[in-house]
Amino acid sequence: MTTTVVIGGNFAGMTAALELKRKGKKEHKVIMVDKSPLFLFIPSLIWVPFGRREIKDISFRKDTILKKKGVEFMHAEALRVDTEKQIVLTDKGEVNYDHLVIATGPKVKFDVAPGIKEYAHYIGTPNGAMKTRAALEAFKNEPGDIVIGATQNAGCMGAAYEFLFNVEKWLREQHIRKKVNLYWITPETFLGHFGIDGMTGGETMLKSFMKMFNIHYRTEVGIKEVQKDKVVLSTDEVINSKFTMLMPPFVGVDFVTKSEGLKATPAGYIPVTDDYRHTELPNVWAAGIAVDVKLPFTPGKVPFSSPKTGYPSDETGKIVAENIYRVSQGKTKLKQKAWGKIPGICVMDAGKKEVIILSNSLFKPRNFAIMIPNVIFDFSKVLFEKYFLWKTKHGYSQLP
Ligand SMILES: Cc1cc2nc3c(=O)[nH]c(=O)nc-3n(C[C@H](O)[C@H](O)[C@H](O)COP(=O)(O)OP(=O)(O)OC[C@H]3O[C@@H](n4cnc5c(N)ncnc54)[C@H](O)[C@@H]3O)c2cc1C
Repeated sequence: MTTTVVIGGNFAGMTAALELKRKGKKEHKVIMVDKSPLFLFIPSLIWVPFGRREIKDISFRKDTILKKKGVEFMHAEALRVDTEKQIVLTDKGEVNYDHLVIATGPKVKFDVAPGIKEYAHYIGTPNGAMKTRAALEAFKNEPGDIVIGATQNAGCMGAAYEFLFNVEKWLREQHIRKKVNLYWITPETFLGHFGIDGMTGGETMLKSFMKMFNIHYRTEVGIKEVQKDKVVLSTDEVINSKFTMLMPPFVGVDFVTKSEGLKATPAGYIPVTDDYRHTELPNVWAAGIAVDVKLPFTPGKVPFSSPKTGYPSDETGKIVAENIYRVSQGKTKLKQKAWGKIPGICVMDAGKKEVIILSNSLFKPRNFAIMIPNVIFDFSKVLFEKYFLWKTKHGYSQLP
């Protein structure tokens, strides 16, 4: 019997745990440790501030499906791992492992500039999305200028773009659009870089969106400081802002950075080879955001990073499961797929409009890359949400 402990059970960890149990059957004991009892479809958090989704619509208790599929669930926070003794320490006790999968996602680095934690909103957590909803409700009665964007070192620009276009549409629905100067600020060297060096036609498309919706924008800027009613940019420009939403950078979680034995990178990510096995620890694996991914482009004046989206998170979860299974079978040939070679499949919601982004590989060089705008409705993102929730609720981890 091989025991695998999966730390973190959302996109990457849920797939890894279910897939390994499906393949390994009775020969594999799989234990998932997660501090949250809920599976959360994070991409739909952008709709929560506008009341288009409630948290209950995009989350469900994960223990039921895990139990049904034979995966043990431990509702606990992993605190540290002793990689020599192969023991994970949690706030609910210790767990031993033969293989360890790290799928802990990100920690948000709010202290990247002063005032972000205090004065800027963040939509990437249920609590943050609900607070943003309350702030927009209050804003309606006393509108002013708005700043939305991503900070220096951020990588998840896509979600901030989505929120920007949803806010623009919401302002029109509230009949207050004319009272608001709407600003987009980004460390990207050009609009639509997205941390993947852009795609053909992307910059032109986003420029035309900005023009069409009368959104002012600044590229290659960072944040010097956020105050209650203004945002100070790295260029010293000061923009008045009654409502600010920023996407700060992601780093590795405390569990990783506090576990010296994991030999994480300075940013707290797990160094892996293309089989998602730790470069130095053969029984430690990583999937999803926890994976260290090398920057696929030359940064400009302001540093920024590349996104780690849902599709590659799910894919790396599958690869890790397959490879642990192969190792347990005594095989030495492992499945390999460099992060940047995983196909790019993403939908950018633009407020009941959307842009479908498809490419044969996430990073350049690409043989095929296309951005398809859909200005009629955002049914692809809705479809993606419904499909992913259906697939995960039923434990169909083998599906794409
Ligand atoms: C606002 C927003 C919008 C997005 N939109 C899109 C989109 O449209 N399309 C797309 O493809 N991607 C999108 N993404 C990215 C997508 O959400 C991530 O790619 C995906 O969630 C990464 O999966 P993961 O499993 O690596 O991490 P997560 O989904 O963050 O899961 C990590 C899990 O680890 C658990 N955990 C963390 N630390 C511990 C610990 N110490 N002990 C126990 N458990 C722990 C957490 O509770 C969580 O369940 C978006 C992200 C954000 C923030």
